[in-house]
Amino acid sequence: NEFQKFNLKPFLMQALDQIGFKKPTPVQEKVIPLIAAKKSVVGQSQTGSGKTHAFLLPIFDDIDPELNAIQAVITTPSRELAYQIYEDAKQLASTSEIKIEIGNYVGGTDKKRQIEKLNHHQPAIIIGTPGRVLNLLKERALNFRQVKYMVIDEADMTLDMGFLNAVDQIAASMPEKLQILVFSATIPQKLNVFLKKYMDSPVIESI
Ligand code: AMP
Repeated sequence: NEFQKFNLKPFLMQALDQIGFKKPTPVQEKVIPLIAAKKSVVGQSQTGSGKTHAFLLPIFDDIDPELNAIQAVITTPSRELAYQIYEDAKQLASTSEIKIEIGNYVGGTDKKRQIEKLNHHQPAIIIGTPGRVLNLLKERALNFRQVKYMVIDEADMTLDMGFLNAVDQIAASMPEKLQILVFSATIPQKLNVFLKKYMDSPVIESI
């Protein structure tokens, strides 16, 4: 399996075997080592490029599932996209001996119940739409003090749908030493302004 070169944890190699991925896609080839090297990355790539696993694999490889704290936050503009990433993440987590908690927070779901559960326990990784994530943050149900990774998936669509301000508020509540990973088909000027605010020297990859 060509994923071996990334030195991923055994449970991830096992998950990849189960899923049937044998060879990284070009975006995975470029981005996985950059994320592992602690770079903030802007990946200009389309849906279908394999970008989801390009960020999920190095994040799963790095987080501590025994820490009762959110370590990675992934936002995407639609409920469907969030659910897709959540499913991919659950599949990767399924081979881990230590349970890796993953949360999915999108609009139109039972917020009260989510708050009750979050007051009990914080998942290691959360995936959601910017509005609901910001909402839960303002309710103090989500605690971002130990977040290491912020992924902004479909950033141009996020901007088009008017969610960039929400993403900005989410990112502003995170520690300064944050690794930001942005995936977008295009990089419009307004997005560039946001990127400059949060990223010192991002590695920009067009794949
Ligand atoms: P994405 O761009 O992340 O939405 O992924 C597009 C599709 O490619 C999804 O169905 C993935 O399951 C699949 N995929 C991602 N990485 C690989 C890989 N290395 N080998 C084969 N299929 C992949």
